[in-house]
Amino acid sequence: MRVDVDGATSSSEDLYRILPSVNDLLRVDGIDLLLQSHKRTAVVNAVRRALDQARDEIVRGLHTRATLSERVAGLPLSVAENLSQRYQFSLRPIVNATGVILHTNLGRAPLSKLALDHLVRVASSYSNLELDLGSGERGSRDVHVESLILTLLQSEAAISDQQHPSRAIIVNNCAAATFLALHSLAKGKEVIVSRGELVEIGGSFRIPEILQESGASLKEVGTTNRTRLSDYERALGPNSGLILRVHQSNFSMEGFVAKPSLDELIALGKQAHIPVFEDQGTGLIHSLESCGIHGETTLMDSFGKGCDLVAASGDKLLGGPQCGILAGRKDLVDQIRVNPLFRTFRADKLNYAALEATLVEYLSDTPERIPVMRMLHTESQQIKERCEQIVSQVNSSELTVEVVPVESAVGGGAAPRARLESYAISLCHSDIGAETLQSALRQFDPPVIGRINDNLVLLDLRTVDAELDPYLLQVLTRHLRLALETTGS
Ligand SMILES: *Cc1c(COP(=O)(O)O)cnc(C)c1O
Repeated sequence: MRVDVDGATSSSEDLYRILPSVNDLLRVDGIDLLLQSHKRTAVVNAVRRALDQARDEIVRGLHTRATLSERVAGLPLSVAENLSQRYQFSLRPIVNATGVILHTNLGRAPLSKLALDHLVRVASSYSNLELDLGSGERGSRDVHVESLILTLLQSEAAISDQQHPSRAIIVNNCAAATFLALHSLAKGKEVIVSRGELVEIGGSFRIPEILQESGASLKEVGTTNRTRLSDYERALGPNSGLILRVHQSNFSMEGFVAKPSLDELIALGKQAHIPVFEDQGTGLIHSLESCGIHGETTLMDSFGKGCDLVAASGDKLLGGPQCGILAGRKDLVDQIRVNPLFRTFRADKLNYAALEATLVEYLSDTPERIPVMRMLHTESQQIKERCEQIVSQVNSSELTVEVVPVESAVGGGAAPRARLESYAISLCHSDIGAETLQSALRQFDPPVIGRINDNLVLLDLRTVDAELDPYLLQVLTRHLRLALETTGS
């Protein structure tokens, strides 16, 4: 029994009577329209779900006659929402306010405008993916990016193709590139690798396991913290297939540590006629010194030094689509190209299109159009001003918003210790904790993903495109309040 505002009493029995039947509801204006655009069974199911929800609210004692009548009037809208939610995509864009530029959980690198346009044009029509337009004969998909990769690497490293005949191919990702290189060049042979580089890259990509699966045998040298050139020298033998160097991408070692330089390894390889293969990982094109990140090596460094073969990811610091790039000595890449497994790691046309466009941005000297590069180079002052702009417009008694200095991270297994000065909007709610606040932010469309520090939700704007600032403002001024009201907080 509960007392209505108008003084009348009503039991839940009475309340149930206010609810329309499924058939009644199907005849209501608005819902009959839904029947024209959706299958009948889908609408009937949505109507049932909406009524179940209302019944559940009655059971929980949430309704008086007055509120239930209102609820019934709103049922067509609930049904429409219910229907549209059923068809919501699972994979959706989100607002990355974590300040981690390359976040594997969040899809790593967003693509440049040029890459997106090119991808849409190529994908919405047929293309010359494997057709040589000159001869009309069957072509190879490699050509669409090979010369761009080599031009970029050779021009930056100032070497010519006559000096070092080179080739470049792409596969699905860097893990596949590394596996394929080991399988093609060192199956049944020994791969010499430092104990300091027997690492796990993440997502269970472990160098010793990949080596084993490739059919090569691991010849470990040195110790975890120190490996000398002489360790490699002593390990060389008649069954040596490759010298492998793995970029220590997701951790850093400090203190009593040493390893030979890549130059030294390359010189040793040349002398012994054993190719040196570097799993470079990041695909970084231009040095990051100018944004205060030191010691992160570039793809050019490896290539320019004469490394025989290099593998890199397309969607890390290169800022392109997911793919793995293999570039190096022509004879080695040719050997990989004819491995039957190459076909099983084949990249699709969308990858070629997006990578081609990303490489064009570098070649036409407009890397700032690549989102990852832009985010890395944004001045913290600019981020601070955007935070202040938003914060100045939020006026709430429950929600405290402030601009706070934070540090953004590169992420994605690159520059693990590097931090970029940045600013965030910190959120604190008078009634609810940071976890609940964060979970509410995840329910919006697009969801907003921040991080929690010291019971505050932090939204670092380095990784948020400035075009989304008006949306963030709306989230903080409207959506959040409504969401917290309806959850009963
Ligand atoms: C990230 C990384 C990989 C794996 O690259 P994916 O493109 O994710 O497969 C392999 N090696 C190194 C050194 C890396 O940094």
